[in-house]
Amino acid sequence: MRWSSGDRSNIEDARGRSGIGMGGGVPIGIGGFLVLLVLSWATGTDFLSLLGGGGTNSAPTEMTGTTGQVTATPQEERMVDMVDAVAGDTQDTWQQLLGNRYQRTRVVLFRDGIQSGCGAAESATGPFYCPADQKVYLDLSFFNELSERFGAPGDFAQAYVVAHEFGHHVQNLLGTSERVRAGSMGANSGSVALELQADCYAGIWGHAASQAGSVHAGRVQLEPGDAEEALRAASVIGDDHLQKMGGGRVQPERFTHGTSAQRTEWFQRGLQSGDPRQCDTFGALTH
Ligand SMILES: [Zn+2]
Repeated sequence: MRWSSGDRSNIEDARGRSGIGMGGGVPIGIGGFLVLLVLSWATGTDFLSLLGGGGTNSAPTEMTGTTGQVTATPQEERMVDMVDAVAGDTQDTWQQLLGNRYQRTRVVLFRDGIQSGCGAAESATGPFYCPADQKVYLDLSFFNELSERFGAPGDFAQAYVVAHEFGHHVQNLLGTSERVRAGSMGANSGSVALELQADCYAGIWGHAASQAGSVHAGRVQLEPGDAEEALRAASVIGDDHLQKMGGGRVQPERFTHGTSAQRTEWFQRGLQSGDPRQCDTFGALTH
């Protein structure tokens, strides 16, 4: 993936801020990580460590409390620039598609835990979108998990995660999220339709980024092999794959995000068409 550093106007840096409190609303995540954590908690087995991989940063980082100052490795700072570039480009894409129906928002970067408009969240929740404050929340350590524990490395795999969360923002702006009952579950649930549509919307951005000459226009540009990275990421966080990773049997009645096959299929649909009308997961699942 080719991209250039910007002014970080798409980022709200809360990495040096800590604090947990209460809030309202339900966060919508990328799926997966919390599932494994809950399995670990319920059975007393640490599935996360069973999955292998160290998952720690290459160098120690240091926080200076609530002053907002943060110490980070150059690699982490480059990751911040990448997230900013992807977030900016994703938002440009949706602005072009939706006009003034699109409202720009930001990615809140945090470490360990954060107080969001949807309540307290820990890094184990994984990246999520909070409809109440309309922001995307991300702990960059998730990218290490994605690469080392889930086996989906690469910058476009990471970009897919960011673009998926912005897909939830689009759903919130268009009123789609309201159609879904919070906490719904099962292979044909509204929750799965919502998540697969966010995958399709991530593909919509991928389509825009795959246009030749994007990088010369100051935009993100995909390179050969990038699409495969994102497809791999979509596949490893499918509900069926995660349930197997967690050592259990596949339970479609507990699906919240869709199977690996569905997640890759809907991402690809967006990627190939670039047309949000092709992302009618609600129609596809309920008819
Ligand atoms: Zn999601």
